[in-house]
Amino acid sequence: MTEQAFILAIDQGTTSSRAIVFNLTGAIVAVAQEEFRQIFPADGWVEHNPQDIWETTLKTAREALQEAEKQGGKIAAVGITNQRETTLLWDRQTGRTIGNAIVWQDRRTAERCRQLKEKGLEKFFIERTGLLLDPYFSGTKLAWMLDREPELRRRAEQGRLAFGTVDSFLLWQLTGGQVHATDATNASRTLLFNIHTQQWDEKLLELLNIPTPLLPEVKDCAADFGLTTKEIFDRPIPICGIAGDQQAAAIGQACFQPGMVKSTYGTGGFVLMNTGDKAVKSTNRLLTTVAYRLDGKTSYALEGSIFSAGSAVQWLRDALGLIDTAAQSEELAAGITTTAGVYMVPAFTGLGAPHWDPQARGALLGLSRDSGRAEIVRATLESISYQTADLLQGMASDSGIEIERLRVDGGMAANNWLMAFLAWILNLPGDRPVVTETTALGVAYLAGLQSGLFQNLDEIEQSWRRDNTFAPQLDTGERKQLLKGWHKALKRVLL
Ligand code: ADP
Repeated sequence: MTEQAFILAIDQGTTSSRAIVFNLTGAIVAVAQEEFRQIFPADGWVEHNPQDIWETTLKTAREALQEAEKQGGKIAAVGITNQRETTLLWDRQTGRTIGNAIVWQDRRTAERCRQLKEKGLEKFFIERTGLLLDPYFSGTKLAWMLDREPELRRRAEQGRLAFGTVDSFLLWQLTGGQVHATDATNASRTLLFNIHTQQWDEKLLELLNIPTPLLPEVKDCAADFGLTTKEIFDRPIPICGIAGDQQAAAIGQACFQPGMVKSTYGTGGFVLMNTGDKAVKSTNRLLTTVAYRLDGKTSYALEGSIFSAGSAVQWLRDALGLIDTAAQSEELAAGITTTAGVYMVPAFTGLGAPHWDPQARGALLGLSRDSGRAEIVRATLESISYQTADLLQGMASDSGIEIERLRVDGGMAANNWLMAFLAWILNLPGDRPVVTETTALGVAYLAGLQSGLFQNLDEIEQSWRRDNTFAPQLDTGERKQLLKGWHKALKRVLL
């Protein structure tokens, strides 16, 4: 019997590091996962210890590899997907990191962003990067690190330091400091990368005062990223694919045609629409980003996020005690036919696109003496569908592309009632795949493409398998009524 080829996907997330091994039909062979520490040094600051990131990654990767190889296959290639925008700095000589990683959620550079906006520079950043001037992205985080100590800037200018997002940091570690590179999707989240020319942008680097010698080389998503050193696994294995988590999920959902949309419902919700070779400029404050770059050809996406999705369900469970488990929300919502005008706006941490109001806070509206536990739970689930509807409307209007269906994944996609309601509110069919680990699968596909285990995107498209389709129902009158109520509720919380 010849040995089967497997692909190892490293999925370095915000709260845990995971490693998943896939076989060539896209089925999961082995999984390992480990959570790590979240560090909150001040209000609005979020950090990770780089050592924690690296150690949990290495441990889970080794565990998954061993488990998979016990099953008679061999890892032919490695892919990396990661929490995006999180920023690291290290010394090229010693490999030692400088301070902690500043996590994407960290708001410490809000003031810096405000100052840049006041100078009227946001338009300029949007034009070149597709992003908004928000602390979310890496650029101002890196500037903050360098501004803290003049000595660091000097070392950066001399080429002694390296900047990287998490993919780049892991690649450096896995290759024993041989490769300092990233992929186009991760680069497109830094606020330093021109998404049209696919180059680091000198003008943006100048505006943020970032020395060029810090920057990694930007490669395609499927590329030769080097070999793991012998000490990592028992032999060198080629690293062949990298993509940021949301882009990897879109690839795992095989969203390769313009107009295809994936929506991931975890703690937050992330919607990406493929817009093909066109970088669509948004008038709804959606982000324009790189979906993937293969063989030097860039495909773009529009992206929008829902800040509170699963976290709103956690709030029902932990703060209100209305449910014991997240899954219980399904039977409560399905047990009534309407919320009777109750709306929940889960703006716990403000509202994202297309509303963008960081100051907005949550509200529960339309309560009567008949409103109870089920109504509140159902209204919370409904709000996730309404927010998706607002995003999709923005995407359709920005791109001029009619959206035909939606591919769903993430922990909340297990909720059948929610998926059915979503299809109804969007008036679009929703497809749920068999493998909902789309992020890891996406980067396994990329690594498979580069190593010749998959020939092309068509082959990947064909290996995508549907678990269920949620079809829209027909009564549009009621649907419109519900959406109208939602928009009225939203108006009350927008400042
Ligand atoms: P993340 O990757 O962001 O940690 P997951 O994709 O694992 O998130 O999804 C977990 C989230 O989904 C949690 O916030 C949880 O409350 C929610 N969730 C999980 N199962 C259900 C369900 N059946 N119904 C509603 N929400 C759910």
